[in-house]
Amino acid sequence: MRKPFIAGNWKMNTNQRGALALASGLKDRLAGVDTVDVAVCPPFVYLAAVGAALSSSNIALGAQNLYHERNGAFTGEISGDMLKDVGCSYVILGHSERRHILGETDDLINKKVRAAIDGGLLPIFCVGELLEEREAGRTHDVVSEQVKNGLEGIDAERALAVTVAYEPVWAIGTGKTATAEQAQEVHAMIRALLGELFGADVAQQMRIQYGGSAKPNNTAELMANPDVDGLLVGGASLKVEDFAAMVQTVA
Ligand code: PEP
Repeated sequence: MRKPFIAGNWKMNTNQRGALALASGLKDRLAGVDTVDVAVCPPFVYLAAVGAALSSSNIALGAQNLYHERNGAFTGEISGDMLKDVGCSYVILGHSERRHILGETDDLINKKVRAAIDGGLLPIFCVGELLEEREAGRTHDVVSEQVKNGLEGIDAERALAVTVAYEPVWAIGTGKTATAEQAQEVHAMIRALLGELFGADVAQQMRIQYGGSAKPNNTAELMANPDVDGLLVGGASLKVEDFAAMVQTVA
């Protein structure tokens, strides 16, 4: 019922040559995979070139952020229209690095999620708790607040455009993966909350990815959980072999 979805977040990595090599390597390795949705999210400046390299492949293009206004005097920002124009289908929003390093608030993230949906993009909306929040037993409260605030003002029909990515901050880029049980427990909580917000039918259709040191060797275990519908992959998405192996495991 929910098609698995694996997305690679390249963050502020690669250069032009490396980005193209990664794209064409993945295109070759993943030709014919049609049981998993796959996307890569390169830095803005390489989107057009990577999009061209992925043409006639089954790999979609995503961006790592957008600004919620459509155009105008917003020096240094990129709009959803611009992302569509260069071939993006997806956009990552609310990533913990943007929340905690760049100071993005729930309110700003909500504006971005709404702008993305209005502009025909599919948001990958990230939520997740800090280590001290988990240790204080606040994981559910923190994640619920992020989900409710980030999706405020979005109706059930438009919510279907959203993939939620549960990314415990303590697991991102640290090599510390949440156990399959920890991931499933929070995913089930998120799906129940999506049910309260949008109705059980819509919640059953919405995909919830796990992110945080997902690698080829833990893909099968994470994906075996009933509420884990895919992965948002950082470090391992920068290696053709690793990312392709993860997609193939799921396929
Ligand atoms: C991410 O940044 O979205 C992520 C999950 O990173 P990593 O896989 O490197 O932990």
